[in-house]
Amino acid sequence: MTEYDWLIIGGGPHGRFIAASIARAAREARLAVVDPLPALAAWRARAAACGMRYLRSSNAHHLGARADSLRRFARAAGYDGTHALGYYRRPSLALFDEHAAAELGAPAHVPRRAHRLTRRHGGWRVELDDGDTLTARRVVLATGPGRPYRPAGFEHAEHVFDPDFELGDPGAATVIVGGGITGAQFALRAAEAGRRTCWLTRHRPVRADFDSDPCYAGPRCLAPFVNAPPARRTQMLADARLPGTLPPDIHGAITAALAARRVAWRRGEPERLTPSGVLLADGRLIHAGRVILATGFAHRPDPNSLLGRAVADFDLALDPAGHLYIDAELAAAPGLHIAGRPASLQLRPMAGNIKGARLAGRVLAAIARHAAAAA
Ligand SMILES: Cc1cc2nc3c(=O)[nH]c(=O)nc-3n(C[C@H](O)[C@H](O)[C@H](O)COP(=O)(O)OP(=O)(O)OC[C@H]3O[C@@H](n4cnc5c(N)ncnc54)[C@H](O)[C@@H]3O)c2cc1C
Repeated sequence: MTEYDWLIIGGGPHGRFIAASIARAAREARLAVVDPLPALAAWRARAAACGMRYLRSSNAHHLGARADSLRRFARAAGYDGTHALGYYRRPSLALFDEHAAAELGAPAHVPRRAHRLTRRHGGWRVELDDGDTLTARRVVLATGPGRPYRPAGFEHAEHVFDPDFELGDPGAATVIVGGGITGAQFALRAAEAGRRTCWLTRHRPVRADFDSDPCYAGPRCLAPFVNAPPARRTQMLADARLPGTLPPDIHGAITAALAARRVAWRRGEPERLTPSGVLLADGRLIHAGRVILATGFAHRPDPNSLLGRAVADFDLALDPAGHLYIDAELAAAPGLHIAGRPASLQLRPMAGNIKGARLAGRVLAAIARHAAAAA
């Protein structure tokens, strides 16, 4: 049986960028990515489901090795200016994905779901869903944003991020619940597909370029963050995040669609799903044949997920927002590294974003380089 140096669990943007970073840093490292899905499949499915055309992040945030690699790739591959939106030159999804495919290489891929981790001398054992076992010195959990979030009263509603979600044929009047970028993009997509669409939000559309304070990309916010005790960082993360906001293009498109009544709009606090639609806290009922949540992800790990099991099995500590207490090497336990949003207490508010993948890749590549030099 192969004893891996690194097993990366999850082949999304984070896992695949980390795998590529480690492979570049330590060419001899025995590494594999474990994921039942092909590379970036979950990312692509979610982007398609909500109708995303441009990334929200700038063209500096990509999955290539060099800082300027997306710009160079776009030029060489003949992508014109329509693939770079606005001041931050936000890449089109098509450009981002083609560049990623060109840059990420082809690490060994184990097309299985990892079920459980156990400790072993000098590393970890990874049980797979088919009963097989892999062993590695180090494991990286890059298993993504978790399960779709369903507010109380909506436990049985469809969610745009359900893996089997389909918009289907026009027909039933559709209520879309959620005032953030996913809800707005998805309302536009549903209306374009000919559905009678009502967008239900708690607040008016709020404009912001990014989903967290960009100040954390530089030393002005980073320095106080890294110097703060972990308990204080939880509040700093909450203050820095801007959930429920829309970048200018989506803000412009949805407000135009609301003004032209291509999308109906209701403001209110959703109370619960009923057989005839959505009941609001103030007693109003919005009639609908279909109610679709666009409410993001639950941030506490699902107890039935690999991360949730690891938290329970190894007594890993979490803050109230579902971030793990990890060290500067992103380790929650020796040799068990965490990527994505759960790593925010080290990687800042953008831990779950593409920038977070780049930050995690840098940290883990340094460990791999050091280990290779010491071997
Ligand atoms: C619609 C949308 C748009 C976004 N746009 C941007 C943007 O413009 N800019 C930005 O910076 N960020 C953006 N984000 C945030 C973030 O970059 C994405 O969510 C990104 O896909 C996260 O990558 P990931 O690798 O963490 O997760 P995922 O893409 O979900 O990948 C995780 C992988 O782990 C696998 N997995 C899970 N559990 C197991 C297991 N037990 N065993 C094996 N494999 C497992 C899954 O199958 C999946 O393939 C966006 C998010 C969404 C939802």
